[in-house]
Amino acid sequence: MSFTTQVKEDLTRISSSRTCCRRAEFVAFFLINGMIRISGGVSLVMQTENSGVARRMFTLAKDFSLDREVSVYRRSRLKKNQVYRLVIPPQAGISRFLEELGMLDAGDRWRFGFTDQIRGHFLQEPCCCRAFLRGAFLAAGSVAAPDAGSYHLEFNGIDREQADLLLSLLAEQGIPGKMLQRRDNATVYLKGAEHISDFLNIIGSHRSLLEFESVRVFKEVRNQANRLRNCDNANVNKTVAAAARQVEEISYIQRELGMKYLPAKLRAVAELRLEYPDASLTELAELSCLGRSALNHRLRRLEQIADNIRSYGVSEWNRSEARGK
Ligand SMILES: [Zn+2]
Repeated sequence: MSFTTQVKEDLTRISSSRTCCRRAEFVAFFLINGMIRISGGVSLVMQTENSGVARRMFTLAKDFSLDREVSVYRRSRLKKNQVYRLVIPPQAGISRFLEELGMLDAGDRWRFGFTDQIRGHFLQEPCCCRAFLRGAFLAAGSVAAPDAGSYHLEFNGIDREQADLLLSLLAEQGIPGKMLQRRDNATVYLKGAEHISDFLNIIGSHRSLLEFESVRVFKEVRNQANRLRNCDNANVNKTVAAAARQVEEISYIQRELGMKYLPAKLRAVAELRLEYPDASLTELAELSCLGRSALNHRLRRLEQIADNIRSYGVSEWNRSEARGK
């Protein structure tokens, strides 16, 4: 089962005790997902592939005292999924319902741009705003599983006016949504685990929220552990590389110049490094009875000497040393 389906199943199990909220949820679902059919009298049609969602909308429509029926059919093309169709057949209650939504005026004329009406009628209480977002998610929402690559939740296939309404409702809940618009189609989406978590909480998908959170925490801990390990590895690699370079440079001095020409203090360190090629700086410091920084300094000098021999030749190294290069 996809995470979206799981969230929707969660939502269909919520029992809303308040009529205001049940109405707000149904209105959101109808606005986004509903069609108005005019032939043979005005009827309302909503479709969903989720049987739980169909059942829920069937129940919620009762609050508008509308007779309704559900039928199932199989999509003939493509995926051949089952589709549940909720039909509210022609009846007197429909014009009252559409008037309440602000889609029809008192003279039975169609109206457009009815967001204010929806707000005034159905979204006066915070509880209803949350229920409206729930209905919108049931109609057009999807959310990536928390263990997927990135955190993403979206409302798809909505129009600009619906998108604006959703964005402002989300903003009122402290959730910043974003919008993408392509011709008549808009998408509202949320990024970031925290915002998605907040949203699941607000719409009441608590079981999925728990799963979302635990996967998210697991992921964060794992990422942190990975970061630490990479960091450790990087440090180890650096130490190993530095030691190998020192051994190489000292061997070069030994070959080209001979250890005996080195100042005694440097020679002691050079010989110690060759003896313990894998030792870390700290280990080498302990072996040499020097402080780390003194030891480090001497190792650097040795590398410098090798460098100078390479640049100026053996006979010149003393002079170049004297020049402090
Ligand atoms: Zn309410």
